[in-house]
Amino acid sequence: TTDGATSSAGSTKPAFDISQPTIARVYDALLGGKDNFEADRLGAQTYLKYVPDAGRVAQDNRDGLVKGVQYLARKARIDQFLDIGSGLPTVKNTHEAAQEINPAAKVVYVDNDPIVLAHGRALLATNDSTTVVTADLRRPQEILDHPDVRNMLDFDRPIALMVVGLHMHFHDDEQPDEWVRTLWDALVPGSYLFMTDFVDTGEPLQKAIEQAGLESLGNGWIRTPERIKQHFLGLELEPPGLDFVARWFPEDLDADLTAPERLEPWQRIMMAGIARKP
Ligand code: SAM
Repeated sequence: TTDGATSSAGSTKPAFDISQPTIARVYDALLGGKDNFEADRLGAQTYLKYVPDAGRVAQDNRDGLVKGVQYLARKARIDQFLDIGSGLPTVKNTHEAAQEINPAAKVVYVDNDPIVLAHGRALLATNDSTTVVTADLRRPQEILDHPDVRNMLDFDRPIALMVVGLHMHFHDDEQPDEWVRTLWDALVPGSYLFMTDFVDTGEPLQKAIEQAGLESLGNGWIRTPERIKQHFLGLELEPPGLDFVARWFPEDLDADLTAPERLEPWQRIMMAGIARKP
């Protein structure tokens, strides 16, 4: 059960080390949430020191997550979501965005920070179509084998795999493409891959956000668009391709879509992409 996955030590009581910031809680603090502690708020302040609009960067990414889910549910008619690195519950979450469009949509949240499970349970207590699992992207087979994942999702039908706001930029020296490939290989044609990442197109504010991440969390690297595209495993991306989050999600794009150079610098920090399995 989900309890068994709560900690690798086998305890069902998640132990939170509140003396060190975690990605989930710093992000929550930047979004204006309450599920964070002093060390996390200090971490958020480090981000704000380097990038005064860091709160808007976080919100921009979160808005992108919601719009991406809406795109997948409405346009791609996806009704199963495997949301890796889901983060703490906030104003609107994957299952809410998806179930507004299709009440039967199923969502599995996966995060390696046990605080996500603790808070997610309360939010999902009455939702039979959604569950939270504590597991790690770096051990993808454990995600695939997890009984709660298997019970909720039908792997004989398309699934949207979401790796939003965590994939590469919190895993520098490891093998993120391999982990995604393991998950992706388990999905049938018609499945989708949705990712956002910190990008490096040579702008000072992008470098600043990396600096903030290294100082507060010890990670959070920026990557070139070419490198980010490799995370998509050679798949062709849906229009408009890999692009700034603010420019993505076609249903929001009207004729006078803001040109990249007219976006605010803080809107040029995260890029999004969606690919379909042929
Ligand atoms: N996906 C959400 C969003 O975009 O709004 C949350 C993004 S938050 C910045 C990154 C999340 O990924 C955190 O909750 C963190 O705990 C989680 N995370 C980081 N590394 C992970 C890993 N190796 N496996 C699972 N989750 C991870």
